[in-house]
Amino acid sequence: MLKRLEIAGFKSFARKTVLDFSNQTTAIVGPNGSGKSNVAEAFRFALGEQSMKSMRGKRSEDLIFSGTHMSARANRAAVAIIFDNTKRIFPKIDFDEVAIERAVFRDGSSEYSLNGSKVRLRDIQELLAAANIGETGHHIISQGEADRILLANPRERRAMLEDALGLKAFEFRKQEAERKLERTDANVKEVEALRREIAPHIRFLKKQVERLERAEELARELAAACQTYFAIEELYLDTENVRVKREREVAGTKLAQAEAELKAFEDRNNDSEGLKHVEKVRLAERELDRVTQERAQLAREMGRVEGALDSAKRRSHAVKEEPYVKVPRQDLTQLQASIERAGDIAEGSDQAALRSALDAIKGAIGAFLVRFTAPADEYMIEEENIVYTLESEREVLGKKDQELADTIADARATLERARQDRLAYDETGREQQHRLLAVADSRATEEANVARLDARLNELTYLAEEFTRERAEVLALAGSSALSYQKLTELPQEDRRTQEERKRGMERLKIRVEEAGGGTEDVKKEYEDAVAREEFLERELNDLAKSAEGLRALIADLDVELHKTFSEGLTKVNASFGEFFSLMFGGGGAKLVLEELNVVEEEEDEESEQAEPGKPRKAGIEISVNLPKKRVQSLMQLSGGERALTSIALIFAMSQVNPPPFLILDETDAALDEANSRRYGDMIDNLAKKSQLIVISHNRETMSRAGILYGVTMGSDGISKLLSVRFEEAVQVAK
Ligand code: ATP
Repeated sequence: MLKRLEIAGFKSFARKTVLDFSNQTTAIVGPNGSGKSNVAEAFRFALGEQSMKSMRGKRSEDLIFSGTHMSARANRAAVAIIFDNTKRIFPKIDFDEVAIERAVFRDGSSEYSLNGSKVRLRDIQELLAAANIGETGHHIISQGEADRILLANPRERRAMLEDALGLKAFEFRKQEAERKLERTDANVKEVEALRREIAPHIRFLKKQVERLERAEELARELAAACQTYFAIEELYLDTENVRVKREREVAGTKLAQAEAELKAFEDRNNDSEGLKHVEKVRLAERELDRVTQERAQLAREMGRVEGALDSAKRRSHAVKEEPYVKVPRQDLTQLQASIERAGDIAEGSDQAALRSALDAIKGAIGAFLVRFTAPADEYMIEEENIVYTLESEREVLGKKDQELADTIADARATLERARQDRLAYDETGREQQHRLLAVADSRATEEANVARLDARLNELTYLAEEFTRERAEVLALAGSSALSYQKLTELPQEDRRTQEERKRGMERLKIRVEEAGGGTEDVKKEYEDAVAREEFLERELNDLAKSAEGLRALIADLDVELHKTFSEGLTKVNASFGEFFSLMFGGGGAKLVLEELNVVEEEEDEESEQAEPGKPRKAGIEISVNLPKKRVQSLMQLSGGERALTSIALIFAMSQVNPPPFLILDETDAALDEANSRRYGDMIDNLAKKSQLIVISHNRETMSRAGILYGVTMGSDGISKLLSVRFEEAVQVAK
């Protein structure tokens, strides 16, 4: 309930003025123009009235004390209404006292505060709506505005009724829900736009990431392939190196051996042993030759000696036997044989033999000649001497021949031995030749082996270098995992070609990895961020959709509530309205009727909140009256008093249904005659049971119903002053 009103600098109240409302009914009295209505306007002002017209001004400045010739103008107009909140008529404020204050300044700015803290007008409005103090001012009836509700159009009337029924609180909630819904819808659109905006970016990033992942997959594949390859290759190279080096060592040793052996052969071939054997044979041959010739010479000598001996014998015989020479047949036959032999020899080439044959022939013929010529005795002795000499000569020669035959046999034996020796030597040579060939063969083989193994070692060195190169390359392409493999202790049982095939596979993978190119990890991060953002937006959209749904449901609920409260309120108001009306008019009736909505009215008021597009217009409210004993068609036909009564009946009816904490009536009773003034007074008493009343009045009857009376006066200084007065004084002051 109302406690106090504090006015300072507002209109004619230049100085701070405090009105206390400790009674249910307060009357404000005073002469015309003293500033009574300014009090009612001070209420309006403090409650957030925005219409300057309803405060009889044009600009905010008009609300500030403008000064007179005696006192300076104020710079600020401030009004505070202090409520008792012990019963929590403002449920949201947890204080026993609630002070609502508004101030305006000459620059036109307004300030609102609640218990000393600055707030927005909206906060004030909501607060008041919750306490059923509406803004349409149905609880503040200004001077001359008693019939305002009658003059208002159906829509304004509905607003007033809704206000009186306390629908404003619902309306506020509904409006707020609608505003939220609007914002939510706007947010939804915004979020959808954002999603549309980032969708292509996400698609782009996704492709990039897929590419990157493909590249990474390939790199992993490569790393895996490399691990196997490297593990095998490393062990292979080590093993091969050891094996080939060992083989090379063996081959080197063998080659050295073969070479040493060959060198030894060469050294031996250079000695004269072979030549000695040849020389020995040659010497033996020459010796045999020599002794053979010597014997031939001896044979020739023998032939000559035998021939001479033969002739000498024949001659000696002839001398002895006959004076003449008788040539024995035997000698002639012998001569003939010698000639024939010489002939045979002449066919060959043995000169010596031939000579000896011819000498024999010559001797035989000489012997013939001697026999025919020599004297018998002397001759015979001589001849016998000759024979003797020749015979001893022949004996010597025979012995010598025997010796030579032995010598020849010896020489033959020597030659044969030499030959045998040479043959034996040659035989040994052939064996050695075989060995030599074998060794030379072995040397060639080992030379080839050494060359092959050296080439292999070179190849292995090259492979090791390539291995290092490959590792570096793969490290760059596939990362360190390619090199972190378990070392092998045993090579797999497979063909080397398998490993070469592995290498080719690795090379192919390398090319693919290079081609895939990949990207940086940044892309992934960016993609994840974008996806996270997209998911966030999606969630937000869901949340927004949910909240929109909730808001729509709330609005629907509020609509139902509004509708219900309104129709229930309307019924109640009508019941009271009819009652009050017949009470005041001594019969008849009146009621509020909802407009027929299918009649589309051309409204002139463009500012109407009902004119919002898309919203069904609410039905306005008509007033139907039925005066006793009169046939009144329209409100316009009522007299001033009748209008005032009807209006009061309606205002009071509305107040009954949902009583406001206070009601200000500014000379609402001005047009009433005495009888009606009494009825009015009764109704005030009735009304005061539910709402505090502040009546501004010149009416004696009305004054008599008040518990507190304030007199407002204005002196020559043009400043309104307030004083508490008693009823008798009040009647005086009012004049
Ligand atoms: P009535 O009984 O004739 O209705 P009232 O007591 O209701 O009169 P108000 O209308 O409240 O009188 O007061 C009007 C007075 O207030 C006038 O004298 C006017 O000059 C004065 N007034 C209005 N605005 C200002 C202002 N801004 N500064 C000073 N005085 C003002």
